[in-house]
Amino acid sequence: MSFIPYGRQSISEEDIAAVNAVLRSDWLTQGPMIERFEQAVAQRCEAAHGVAVCNATAALHIACLALDLGPGDLLWTSPNTFVASANCARYCGAEVDFVDIDPLTLNLSVTALATKLENAERAGRLPKILVPVAFAGQSCDMAAIQRLAHRYGFKVIEDASHAIGARYAGRPVGCGAQADITVFSFHPVKIVTTGEGGLLTTKDAAVAERLRRLRSHGITRDPALMHAPGQGAWYYEQLELGFNYRITDIQAALGLSQLDRLEAFIARRRALVARYRDRLAELPVGLIGDQALAESAWHLFPIRVDEARRDRVFAGMRAAGIGVNLHYIPVHLQPYYQALGFQPGDFPEAERYYAQALSLPLYADLSEEQQDRVVKCLVGLLDSGVVQCGS
Ligand SMILES: *Cc1c(COP(=O)(O)O)cnc(C)c1O
Repeated sequence: MSFIPYGRQSISEEDIAAVNAVLRSDWLTQGPMIERFEQAVAQRCEAAHGVAVCNATAALHIACLALDLGPGDLLWTSPNTFVASANCARYCGAEVDFVDIDPLTLNLSVTALATKLENAERAGRLPKILVPVAFAGQSCDMAAIQRLAHRYGFKVIEDASHAIGARYAGRPVGCGAQADITVFSFHPVKIVTTGEGGLLTTKDAAVAERLRRLRSHGITRDPALMHAPGQGAWYYEQLELGFNYRITDIQAALGLSQLDRLEAFIARRRALVARYRDRLAELPVGLIGDQALAESAWHLFPIRVDEARRDRVFAGMRAAGIGVNLHYIPVHLQPYYQALGFQPGDFPEAERYYAQALSLPLYADLSEEQQDRVVKCLVGLLDSGVVQCGS
């Protein structure tokens, strides 16, 4: 029986043709497809500016730099995320701290955030940047986060790696109403892919300009920004320390072609989620709760299985060729973060969820037959304690 992964790309003939056309063109990188891709994403997100880069990890890094995060500063994020949401601060020499999660939405808890901010203000250690993560594709309580951002003066980088095509308060995630910068990932398990790739949206023209410069070595060709303009057509200036975080035209063409199916991808994911919810309704598993005002893009379908059974269910499903996964190992439990002083018990809701977490397969090309196989296997393992899937 064929293996069912937890997530995977959906590649059409149109996608292949789009990539082929770039390979036959004059530009493999730094050509016209990148700007077209950026504009197409910005338009879908109702964002003023879009800046495409080589992956979302690089995007988070330059987002922090563009908001002037540096040594001595503090960035807060959720412990229930991929390590990249926290590592971006470390790249800038800043400190990281975490805000525990809401046990229903599995997103950063705004109640915990409000309390932590009160204490931090008293201690004179407020964060400069908050990175709320739209876990599984569902926005956090961004309205409350914006109110706290104004009250305490921190900036917001929304890690929407799971959430292209999601909406919040009736507008697309990434529009700039709820965050200073929004970051998307185009890794193949995410909703839209470019192979590797990432993109930042912002409504701030100066921030967008800075992001473009940081993406390409800190170099400018704009005479208005130069210290010594008027030298000649060859001339450029490096104004700050940047990187080569560029995406290629090959990747941008794939992304542009994929974007044509964004609505179809989201609709398909929603339909599969509705089927999962229907079929799991009577089972002893916990499902992710809805965040008010949020319409999830459904990158993941996480469930909670009581911790006494979780490891056995996980192993049984893997043995049956079903690629369940686990999102996420709390970031503060990673040895790197433990060495910085974090300890087990620091963020109990994230740790409790981790002990119960199981992500079921969810992707646009998952068939209903495959989904039924997943459900049947899960039911069997929960019922009996005997591994009896794969039949
Ligand atoms: C995938 C992911 C990233 C990193 O994305 P890359 O494009 O692989 O660098 C960052 N944050 C979250 C929440 C992710 O899921």
